[in-house]
Amino acid sequence: TALSAAQIRDAFLRFFEERGHRRVPSSSLVPHNDPTLLFANAGMNQFKDVFTGRETRDYKRATTAQKCVRAGGKHNDLENVGFTARHHTFFEMMGNFSFGDYFKQDAIAFAWELVTSPRWLGIDRSRLAATVFSGEGGIPWDEEAYGLWKAQGVPEARIFKLGAKDNFWAMGETGPCGPCSELHYFQGDDIPCAEEKEGRKCQGVACDCDRWLEIWNLVFMQFERSAEGGLTPLPKPSIDTGAGLERLAAVVQGKRSNYDTDLFQNIIRAIERVAGKAYRAETDDGVSMRVIADHARATTFLVGDGVLPSNEGRGYVLRRIMRRAIRHGKRLGLERPFLAEICGAVIDEMGAAYPETRENRAFIEKVALSEEESFRRTLDKGLAILEVEMARLAEAKERIIPGQVAFQLYDTFGFPMDLTRTIAAERGLTVDEPGFDKHMAEQRARSEWKGSGEEAVGDLHKRIAAELGETKFLGYDTTTARAEVKA
Ligand code: ATP
Ligand code: MG
Ligand code: MG
Ligand code: MG
Repeated sequence: TALSAAQIRDAFLRFFEERGHRRVPSSSLVPHNDPTLLFANAGMNQFKDVFTGRETRDYKRATTAQKCVRAGGKHNDLENVGFTARHHTFFEMMGNFSFGDYFKQDAIAFAWELVTSPRWLGIDRSRLAATVFSGEGGIPWDEEAYGLWKAQGVPEARIFKLGAKDNFWAMGETGPCGPCSELHYFQGDDIPCAEEKEGRKCQGVACDCDRWLEIWNLVFMQFERSAEGGLTPLPKPSIDTGAGLERLAAVVQGKRSNYDTDLFQNIIRAIERVAGKAYRAETDDGVSMRVIADHARATTFLVGDGVLPSNEGRGYVLRRIMRRAIRHGKRLGLERPFLAEICGAVIDEMGAAYPETRENRAFIEKVALSEEESFRRTLDKGLAILEVEMARLAEAKERIIPGQVAFQLYDTFGFPMDLTRTIAAERGLTVDEPGFDKHMAEQRARSEWKGSGEEAVGDLHKRIAAELGETKFLGYDTTTARAEVKA
């Protein structure tokens, strides 16, 4: 039988441990050293200062399974969830890192061995392809990486050159940067491709479709970019890699969708139970079940790391995720709160690997219930207003929901803008977003400064802590402090 996701996670970390890497715990989803970052979104985040040389550690090689959320900011996969087989808001990124130690040759040899060796993941090499940087903006193509994949036995026809969009990485406007090289896995030509549907050719490894699945990205930190834009080679280049655990599990377990792996099975079973319906991947209900499964994972891990739903910043991203899940529950026909129970199923599944979810179980379930109860108070009325509006538009043969309506839904009924947009899109409608923004700006100007919202979050936290009568969960600060200690 195929390896379970837990076994894959462990195999990855062991493989690199055996090759001199320090096994470092995941950092918190709430970055404690980087105010520019919304949530941890890659394994390298916690090592940023090590890569720039501002910080040194007593190891030069590390390996991690990092909790990541991509639901806002630079990487936002929120709208993909439920529709692609490979994108989540919360996922685990497996990685290996070299801080000025080994470089391309070892990184490529390690990746190829771990992925293809029957002793490790044993993935069918005839279905793999590699990509290398094609050269762009005066930076030469990565001939070295090309040669190294070839030396591993990858046929030339399976080594593709991609441009900077996919295959060049930079930490920021200035600082470390360099070419990337990815491994992709062929899932089958019968998988639908949007390009093909529009009469164009599928772009293969460069395509947005699920046919060629990107499983691993190797970043070669090779240059330093100056404020003037010039690149100088780093004296000690570094390695940063990331492989999605859910995608590795899909490939190893012979599944075309991450949601068909063992990581999601018990969560989807729990959703089937509360909904009283079987999961059928191809249906609208299937989409809703996937969104709920994904968002329940994000909710569990974000709340477990001390984020609380609120009206701004990180808390608002969490609120948007939770409210989307709740509305999909509604679409499935769930008339009672269910999110807390699904978060419970997530904890059952993930608690062994991430004990912080177990320790905070009561708190996580309480926050989920509290948010759902509060949103359910206005959800039906908001949906009814939206229905009336959409009927009016159909009658008038119009397709754009006025900004005023979207704003009313936001302001009075707690509908985040993206939720209204999603519901509209299901009917082939759009929302007048500039109009919505105008109403928002007017309201901001009208109302006085209401504080940062932190106080409200603090109150919610205190109330729940009092109800639970427990002191184990000490909130945001201690969670991040604990992560700091561990790292
Ligand atoms: P994609 O092109 O599929 O969106 P990416 O190029 O944005 O992926 P990277 O930033 O290179 O992804 O991240 C490294 C790895 O993390 C990817 O190769 C993939 O295995 C995994 N990954 C990235 N985004 C997600 C996501 N939203 N959900 C699950 N896994 C992801
Ligand atoms: Mg992406
Ligand atoms: Mg990509
Ligand atoms: Mg990539």
